[in-house]
Amino acid sequence: MIIDTHAHLNFFEFDNDREGLIKKLIESNYQVINIGTNKESSRECVSLVRDSVYASVGLHPLNIESNLKIKGEVEKKEDNFDYSYYKNLSQEKGVVAIGEVGLDYWYKPKGKARREEYIKKQKEIFENQLDLAKEVNLPIVVHCRSAFDDLIEILSQKNNRGAIHCFTGTKEDVERLLELGYYFGINGIIFKVDLNESIKAIPLEKMLLETDCPYLSPPNFEERNNPFSIDLIIDEISRIKSASREEIIEKTTQNAKKLFYLSLS
Ligand SMILES: [Zn+2]
Repeated sequence: MIIDTHAHLNFFEFDNDREGLIKKLIESNYQVINIGTNKESSRECVSLVRDSVYASVGLHPLNIESNLKIKGEVEKKEDNFDYSYYKNLSQEKGVVAIGEVGLDYWYKPKGKARREEYIKKQKEIFENQLDLAKEVNLPIVVHCRSAFDDLIEILSQKNNRGAIHCFTGTKEDVERLLELGYYFGINGIIFKVDLNESIKAIPLEKMLLETDCPYLSPPNFEERNNPFSIDLIIDEISRIKSASREEIIEKTTQNAKKLFYLSLS
């Protein structure tokens, strides 16, 4: 069994073939966790829940309302974190995590004061969601881009558990996050960014497989990514870590089941 721990099969890119794809995945012994990014998409993930398909609910840092305009964006922004909305949703059947939550400093508003305000708001809402995860006893799925120092500082003050999705940090970040007990989601970004040293530093016992589909398609795979591309990610991890495909699949599947309590939900 292979578990894609971070997918967005609820996104419009799958509107034409979603049900067929999910059926094919289940027949091929795949399991999938669909990850929410705002109220609407979190609810959509919950509505896709069935045997082998799970959901995570949360507010993505780039969906927090700010005066920052990002080109091509389609998702709805939220001015505040609606704690009770997400709490209610997190109690639904098949919800296995709070996420994706975190910090993203890649896009910055112009001007020091606006930048500081933007970062402050991201941190506050991230901490709210860490508190929710503790309250409802679910792991977190963390999105972090260009913000590892602040991320690690916040995580070290809280005692959540969870995974850093689409991990792009350094070997030193790996070491600090391992000390805090976190898992690391590896996806097709490893074909775009040289993460060899970080991947070597992550023990297989702390690694998860994911695609972040429809994004981050590996080269030579279809343009719109889907969970079957995990096969190519396994090959690449196998090359970097000199580990067998079988061992990678076995360990990462065990890790996902353990972190997200998949056999219990
Ligand atoms: Zn994602």
